[in-house]
Amino acid sequence: MNNPRILFWYRKDLRINDNNALKKAFSLSNAITATYILDQNYSYDFNAKSRAWFLGNSLEELSKNWKNLGSRLIIDEGDPLILIPKLAKLIDAKFVVWNKAIEPYEINRDLEIKDNLKKSNIEFIELWDHLLIEPSQIFTGDNKPYSVYGPFYKNLKSKINFVNVKKNFNNIGDLKDLEIGIKEKKKIDTSRLILDRFHKNINFAGFELCPCKPGELAAEKLLDQFICQDKIGSYESSRDFPSQNGTSFLSASLRFGTISIRKVWDATLFSDLININKHNRISIETWQKELAWREFYQHCLFNFPELEKGPYRKKWDLFPWQNNHEWFTRWSNGQTGIPIIDAAMRQLNSSGWMHNRCRMIVASFLVKDLICNWQMGEEKFMKVLVDGDLAANNGGWQWSASSGMDPKPLRIFNPYTQTKKFDPICKYIKFWIPELSKVSNADILNGEISDLEKNNYSGALVNHNIQQRLFKDLYAQI
Ligand SMILES: Cc1cc2nc3c(=O)[nH]c(=O)nc-3n(C[C@H](O)[C@H](O)[C@H](O)COP(=O)(O)OP(=O)(O)OC[C@H]3O[C@@H](n4cnc5c(N)ncnc54)[C@H](O)[C@@H]3O)c2cc1C
Repeated sequence: MNNPRILFWYRKDLRINDNNALKKAFSLSNAITATYILDQNYSYDFNAKSRAWFLGNSLEELSKNWKNLGSRLIIDEGDPLILIPKLAKLIDAKFVVWNKAIEPYEINRDLEIKDNLKKSNIEFIELWDHLLIEPSQIFTGDNKPYSVYGPFYKNLKSKINFVNVKKNFNNIGDLKDLEIGIKEKKKIDTSRLILDRFHKNINFAGFELCPCKPGELAAEKLLDQFICQDKIGSYESSRDFPSQNGTSFLSASLRFGTISIRKVWDATLFSDLININKHNRISIETWQKELAWREFYQHCLFNFPELEKGPYRKKWDLFPWQNNHEWFTRWSNGQTGIPIIDAAMRQLNSSGWMHNRCRMIVASFLVKDLICNWQMGEEKFMKVLVDGDLAANNGGWQWSASSGMDPKPLRIFNPYTQTKKFDPICKYIKFWIPELSKVSNADILNGEISDLEKNNYSGALVNHNIQQRLFKDLYAQI
């Protein structure tokens, strides 16, 4: 076998197993060196403490795995436009190989890198990996990209059910033990220093409370727990209750690619095959639908990159937001005096993660009760979420604000009704707001916590009914 040297560039695919571009690299050669660049222009990967923690620990594990394979993961920091071609030259690579990205910045960066590589006569290969289906393979009947989830899901499901079910997720083979020059050796030593420094600066106190776990091994374990302990079978009935741990906690693993989306989807098909109980099968499909929401938002951002900057429905540009900064700060810190909102925001601030039902409730509250521009909430989430992802976060916020790809015109959540439905015994609220631990559930549910019971907990910042009317009046103006 002709063994050309290959530089494999990791981005949001921090794993060895079932990695499309890595498999491709292996099919060409087993003289592969991997690299990860802490991209100075793309802070989304590590500008939240929780994500820096997730990234740093995932890289640590990945680095060990490459060592065990007999090769190395070179970690560098700076501008990939310069560093990737430079490293490719240093190791005398014939190819640079990576998985494609969907965010506008990443796409433009990759275009420029391709140019730089061409100038240096280095070949590149890029493949899709982060998605269940390539954007070029799914269109509406009119040959347009989808902007409505329902029909997207139907089409997606019909396409991938038979494409991936028999896929093989085996490990890749052994790597060639390479003789390396002094300069390359130096790069390997610097990698260690960079990773150590990165770790040192991570200051994420919430790692024990965070339900997402970094690394490929932990992601496999989370999937296993979800599928094999049959959490997936009761997902339909437990997923909306934030005190029940009824979801998979795989969001950060999928965000950083420590697990492959194909493997996750395949696990649902396997689960479906062995489950004879009708209720369980409905649950499995419900979970597939959530995975499909992730897919949908990724495709949306890829096809409509303008979503990053503003609303999908342009009339929202005209909405007279009030953007009261004191209110925003109280929302942000979990001090609105509305228990479900504060519990959720405190979960976010303490653990880097928030339950999906609560994400919807706090987002609706910020936009439709506090009348703050949804982009303020989007930014806050990106500063804290361990799974903070441009496509999913933007999609979630635009859905909640009614400015996005959701045919329903105005969706407003009443935080008290939501609490009665989804935290009826106030277990979640009392866990995150210890001041309320002795207050009766009835008083919390009705929003009637007496001054005597308050125990330093503040009164409600706003009246939901009044704010909702005001919001509707303002909406009528646009
Ligand atoms: C305002 C708002 C902001 C959000 N921001 C993000 C974000 O930055 N990153 C992120 O990954 N998810 C985001 N979500 C979606 C969802 O809340 C999380 O994916 C989910 O809570 C993660 O928990 P889990 O892994 O246990 O999910 P599960 O319920 O086990 O779902 C499995 C997987 O499906 C995907 N998924 C589930 N629900 C959604 C959804 N509504 N939209 C997109 N993907 C979904 C996730 O990858 C998730 O890991 C947001 C939702 C809202 C309403």
